[in-house]
Amino acid sequence: MQPIPYSRQQITQEDKEAVWNVLGGDFLTQGPKIAEFEAAFAAYVGARYAVAVSNGTAALHLCAMALGVQPGDKVITSTITFAASANCVRYCGGEVVFADIDPETYILDIKKVEALLKAAAPGTYKGIIPVDFTGFPADLEAFRKLADEYGLWIIEDACHAPGGYFTDAKGDKQHCGNGNFADMAIFSFHPVKHIAAGEGGMVTTNDKALYDQLLILRSHGITKDPEKLNENHGGWFYEMQELGYNYRLPDILAALGLSQLSKAEAGIVRRQEIARKYHRELQGLPLQLPLEKEGILNAYHLYVIQTPRRLDLYNYLRQHQIFTQVHYIPVHTLPYYRLQMKNRQQLPVAEAYYSRCLSLPLYPSLTDEEQDYVIETIRKFFQ
Ligand SMILES: *Cc1c(COP(=O)(O)O)cnc(C)c1O
Repeated sequence: MQPIPYSRQQITQEDKEAVWNVLGGDFLTQGPKIAEFEAAFAAYVGARYAVAVSNGTAALHLCAMALGVQPGDKVITSTITFAASANCVRYCGGEVVFADIDPETYILDIKKVEALLKAAAPGTYKGIIPVDFTGFPADLEAFRKLADEYGLWIIEDACHAPGGYFTDAKGDKQHCGNGNFADMAIFSFHPVKHIAAGEGGMVTTNDKALYDQLLILRSHGITKDPEKLNENHGGWFYEMQELGYNYRLPDILAALGLSQLSKAEAGIVRRQEIARKYHRELQGLPLQLPLEKEGILNAYHLYVIQTPRRLDLYNYLRQHQIFTQVHYIPVHTLPYYRLQMKNRQQLPVAEAYYSRCLSLPLYPSLTDEEQDYVIETIRKFFQ
């Protein structure tokens, strides 16, 4: 048996050809594949606009900039996420406040967010960054209602959840990142995610003004649009009107992302299949399994189990060539954030979760035989 990682990309011959074709063309960095990838991605998640960028972290940074995060602004996010969800606020000089997670869904607990907002002077907080952690969609309809009450914006970190959805109060499916509730949503095309491009990211939004802002910030804050220029010296002329970045995605990677996107739906189906089998086969063991909820399609980026014997199980599986992972070390406990916060926050649900969580191998190319071996090895451990 080959070593089994917790996640792995799947690159097909078709993917390779898509990249090869771009290499022979005129554009290596931002070219026609970007617009194609953006249009296809926007259609996939059901958003009006999509902006491709160099990675998910850059996507978060541009969102925070476009929403005008200023030094001292306070923003609430989850502590059970990748650090980048919080870092985007720090890049703009804002202050991150972490709220605890829901013990069943592991998503940012809206009741804890509301308690923070109630306890603060009006205008203290500027925004919320909920994370569709593991692929389980955050209830953005509820978050929107709360955000509107307090005049906050929402960035949905949907890195784990392309293809996932929840059902709203009217009974309609709301796909992660569709922009119906969040002001903007972000995705990553890191190889462990659903769509692999090596590096890459996407912002989706339904707001034209935010979209225009993202386009300019992605490329140095420069515009060539004659309608936006203050002066115009001729065809070569451009103006840098804001301090932007070079967060462009190369056409080479957009071609790979686009080709991968065409297989995303099949990938989701396979991920569901693997998750259902874990669910069936691990029932009865002393483990907490992921919540299955009516009306929700978990995109299953991760399949997280919980056990008080996590370290022993992790080591045991490793000895058997099964390489699980822990998602995540709570961000508020990382040394950088400990230093930022004078009084360390107490987030007991997140800390208890962290002491027990383990992500099992889950990716579309995981074979039935490999999954059986993982299940059998876990059973042996508990015997
Ligand atoms: C992967 C990930 C990111 C960052 O994406 P990169 O493309 O690696 O910069 C941000 N948030 C979450 C939840 C992620 O999983």
